[in-house]
Amino acid sequence: MSLGLRLYTGLLDGCPLPSTLQLADGTTIPQVFSRFSDEREVGGDIRITLDRTRESWTSDLPGNPATSLRLHQGLKRLTRNRANEPRVLRIGLIFANRYAHGGGGTLGAMFDRGFATDDDAFGGENQFQLPREGSALFLGAIQAIRPSSDEFLTQTFFTAVHELGHLFNLLHSSGTNYMAQSRLDRTHEPDYFKFSQAQVGWLSWCSDSPSVWPGGSPFRSRSSSDDALDVARQDLALSIVPSRTRMWPWEPVELEIELKLLESAEEPASIPNEVDPGYERLQIWIEDPSGERRLFRSPQHYCSSFTTIDLSPGQRFVRDVSLFGQSGGYTFREPGVHRIQAVWNPNTPAALHSTDAEIEILGPGAPLPSHGKLLRSPAAARLLYYRHGSSSSSVFRALEQYSRDGEAGATRAHVAYAVGRAHATRWEGARSTQSRKRNAAQALAALEYSAEEEGLGKHARSKCFQLLERIRQD
Ligand SMILES: [Zn+2]
Repeated sequence: MSLGLRLYTGLLDGCPLPSTLQLADGTTIPQVFSRFSDEREVGGDIRITLDRTRESWTSDLPGNPATSLRLHQGLKRLTRNRANEPRVLRIGLIFANRYAHGGGGTLGAMFDRGFATDDDAFGGENQFQLPREGSALFLGAIQAIRPSSDEFLTQTFFTAVHELGHLFNLLHSSGTNYMAQSRLDRTHEPDYFKFSQAQVGWLSWCSDSPSVWPGGSPFRSRSSSDDALDVARQDLALSIVPSRTRMWPWEPVELEIELKLLESAEEPASIPNEVDPGYERLQIWIEDPSGERRLFRSPQHYCSSFTTIDLSPGQRFVRDVSLFGQSGGYTFREPGVHRIQAVWNPNTPAALHSTDAEIEILGPGAPLPSHGKLLRSPAAARLLYYRHGSSSSSVFRALEQYSRDGEAGATRAHVAYAVGRAHATRWEGARSTQSRKRNAAQALAALEYSAEEEGLGKHARSKCFQLLERIRQD
């Protein structure tokens, strides 16, 4: 599918129209925005028809800086979109002399954001409610820093495409592309006159996603954690590795989740620190042996995180998710092979799916191990999941015993890990030297075993090593 848009240009307050809206090599705005059709299988391209027939308006004070209210009113006259337009197909680019806000040096403004801001108290008003229908260019401000006519036209073209990029909800970029912020001293080099791969991926969703199409969701502000969507799917790789692939439903398993910024990424990326199924941004899907697919229900639920994970190209972020329990009980209940998949940024154009991992759940017919009865108790499940529990309880003592002399393997490693973590928590919070020493010794004994056992999973093991070091230094 493609998105056919009609772009109207309008002149505000006696601003003279630039002689041309093309680059020196003849590139036009419609050409820049019509190159996304091959970027994905069910892709959408953007067809922009430039329509310069609409009016120019004069005011009593030609040359006056344009207020955001004037721009909104102008845009409304230019596009003639109704406030309840189901799909905006007419967009506008307004040429004015200068912006009345922010010191007047602004070259362009994405004023139509769908919410009120310091420079635009009207943006949230009913009559201007449709966001991202148009943006503005301030030719007087451009003229002031690019006096030569070549430079003026090149800068005007760059800013026009940049502002239209905002219209499709693209954010600023630190890379070499149209979404880079302009420099005061000179026009950007020719290699800036393109969209990055990530931006092209984003734009190719123009006909499918209200986050992209004009008039859809409000403009994304810099502070929003939706910035993550800027990192395109093709720049990230999501992978999952279960710490074991064959187990009883009541045996613990960790899912290692890795988000990697590929070497080929053009620039470092900041992603929200939400790589956890407790956030809506990360989903884990489980397909049971009958083929039914369900969402892993995390016992925790968090709102947006305000911290980010910074990744440079080639760098990875890894975390473990305890998978065997979910809210309501054990995650795996039926015997047979379960397929697991993680999705980052679900329900958005930037959704990223991991490859599948498989876990075989044992059932009737498989010999029940001797520790089966112990591990199936609710108290054991709680300790294994939350890694804390009362050390005086009989179940805790039984598990501690099992972590010392149980059959070697993944289950014993997980139990030792949970016991070790529980002791480490008490070691940290201990009020008496005696209790501190006792818990340190118990944590060390358990963690030393689990750290050596591969069935625990890479990430949990590295946590073991860190904890061991801290306790030993105490
Ligand atoms: Zn901008």
